[in-house]
Amino acid sequence: MAYDYIIVGGGSAGCVVADRLSADPSLKVLLLEAGGGDSSPLFRMPAGFAKMTKGVASWGWSTVPQKHLNGRVIWYTQAKVIGGGSSINAQLYTRGNAKDYDAWVSEAGCKGWSYREVLPYFIRSEDNERLVDAYHGYGGPLGVSYPVNPPPISFAFLRAAQELGIPFNADFNGAVQDGIGHYQLSTRNAERSSTASAFLKPAQDRKNLTVRLNAQTLRIEIEKGRAVGATIAAGVGTETLRADREVILSCGAIGSPRLLQLSGIGPAAALKSAGVEVVHDLPGVGSNMQDHLDLYAISECTGDHTYDRVARPHRTLWAGVQYLLFKTGPVTSTLFETGGFWYADRKARSPDIQFHLGLGSGIEAGVAQMKNPGVTLNSAFLRPRSRGTVRLASADPKAAPLIDPNYWADPYDRDCALKGLRLARDILRQPALKPFVLAERMPGNNLNTDQELMEYAYRSCKTDHHPAGTCAMGTGPAAVVTPDLRLRGIEGLRVVDASVMPLVPSSNTNAPTIMAAEKASDMILGKPPLPPANV
Ligand SMILES: Cc1cc2nc3c(=O)[nH]c(=O)nc-3n(C[C@H](O)[C@H](O)[C@H](O)COP(=O)(O)OP(=O)(O)OC[C@H]3O[C@@H](n4cnc5c(N)ncnc54)[C@H](O)[C@@H]3O)c2cc1C
Repeated sequence: MAYDYIIVGGGSAGCVVADRLSADPSLKVLLLEAGGGDSSPLFRMPAGFAKMTKGVASWGWSTVPQKHLNGRVIWYTQAKVIGGGSSINAQLYTRGNAKDYDAWVSEAGCKGWSYREVLPYFIRSEDNERLVDAYHGYGGPLGVSYPVNPPPISFAFLRAAQELGIPFNADFNGAVQDGIGHYQLSTRNAERSSTASAFLKPAQDRKNLTVRLNAQTLRIEIEKGRAVGATIAAGVGTETLRADREVILSCGAIGSPRLLQLSGIGPAAALKSAGVEVVHDLPGVGSNMQDHLDLYAISECTGDHTYDRVARPHRTLWAGVQYLLFKTGPVTSTLFETGGFWYADRKARSPDIQFHLGLGSGIEAGVAQMKNPGVTLNSAFLRPRSRGTVRLASADPKAAPLIDPNYWADPYDRDCALKGLRLARDILRQPALKPFVLAERMPGNNLNTDQELMEYAYRSCKTDHHPAGTCAMGTGPAAVVTPDLRLRGIEGLRVVDASVMPLVPSSNTNAPTIMAAEKASDMILGKPPLPPANV
């Protein structure tokens, strides 16, 4: 059977595109996802995120040794489940800064992607529990809510940041991004709102939509310069599926350049050294990788102020009961629901540091767990100048890719990151947090020079899970896709996911990815773009 469209990758972007295309009953749509279903309650519970960075529903990849981080290899969670990152992420709903999108136009030539032009697509997908104004809307598929019952320490954190001169901000996605506050979350009624639950589930009974789980695509089939289908692993063999109109690649910022290269599309020299026959020499594929690197401070608390207290078995049980019966308590928390945006470089065009207050210690993979209850403050530098790569280790589709974010290759990134870490430590030392915080345990009060903090960072830094830019849209020779997301040089093939962002937004990347998928769906369907927002 031939489909009109085959979407490869059912993640944040893929589920949106599957829903929007299959809304037209005359189109036959197939969605292929390498991972399985999301029926485990862990995916629905906001706090289920804590398990996710530790290997649940992910590919199990790591970076290559990081040259500018003393050779450190960093665990690199990428989702392998329907809904992709939106099914396993911390559910922070942030869009970045208006200037990020304007820079996509001015610096990368992405006509049509200015802030005023993309804002209507953010709003189209939004079902905001509280806000309706020029920046927000309700009635869309994606639930967006504020945290259910943040604990007192998170309010003390807000006061502490203000003591340091960072203003309070009630809506990072509104007119101003700067400041400190509670995040909006992609949750609805205290449950995760992934693109699988919000977009795909309501569409899944449509007769013209087929969803195949556990279907890893091995390569895109190209005939005479046109994408005509996809070959998937099926049992011990393979199966080739045909697309009459387009193949849409939505495998994420690691998965999409990986699959293109496995299909012979990428820089010829890199393909040959991996043993892949070159189908189309396209140098930008897998280059231009950007990611946010997290540094963090952890302090020991004066008492049971964070969710570390829930780690004991009887309390875990009670938290589960509380959630199931009343939809309240620790399980409703995404564990990172408070934070904000501020400056390492005061000359930066908009905030370049993001804080995430972790309501515990050891929440994420690789982050130290304290003996007594702790509180974590992550700081990520948001506009890295370093550029990395995604390459193949071999032509075997089962082999892990070579992920090289090349963190801190540009010393500016390191300098800003260290300033961000110093800001995080300063916030935790302010008077408002004194009743809650006993003492800093990491990096520890004895580490203060840049050299000491750098060595601490080498040992402890982690990804913020925001890879982008590896199939960048644009108009220059390094662009992989055009501003309407068509792969340059091959007909019938588009890329729609975080890989197409030419510059990583100054925030978390799930909402920007959903926005891009909304806009892409209109392009694929040949609809005119939504009118620009009047802001
Ligand atoms: C642990 C974690 C925490 C995060 N926290 C936040 C947060 O709080 N807020 C936020 O905004 N962002 C967060 N992010 C980032 C955000 O979730 C991602 O930017 C977003 O999900 C990217 O969407 P995507 O569609 O590009 O890729 P993904 O959502 O990763 O989707 C790609 C999909 O393609 C599938 N796939 C890959 N290769 C193949 C293949 N060959 N065949 C078939 N299927 C394939 C994958 O299994 C996956 O399901 C987080 C990410 C992670 C991993």
